[in-house]
Amino acid sequence: MREAIVDYAATRVYDGVECTVKVDGLKTPKCEKCGQVAPDTEALEEIEHAFDIERQQQAATRKSA
Ligand SMILES: [Zn+2]
Repeated sequence: MREAIVDYAATRVYDGVECTVKVDGLKTPKCEKCGQVAPDTEALEEIEHAFDIERQQQAATRKSA
């Protein structure tokens, strides 16, 4: 594992609604051999934050629709 900067994308389903976020320039441990990204606590916090923002935006979009 080596620290790397990656453009990270993740998808989750909240209340039956698919939610995708992209975190560009995420600093995270990454396997040099297979390229597998293994987010550490700090990286996971950034990803959680991205999901928070995305869900807020989705909620705002639903309200105004
Ligand atoms: Zn590996």
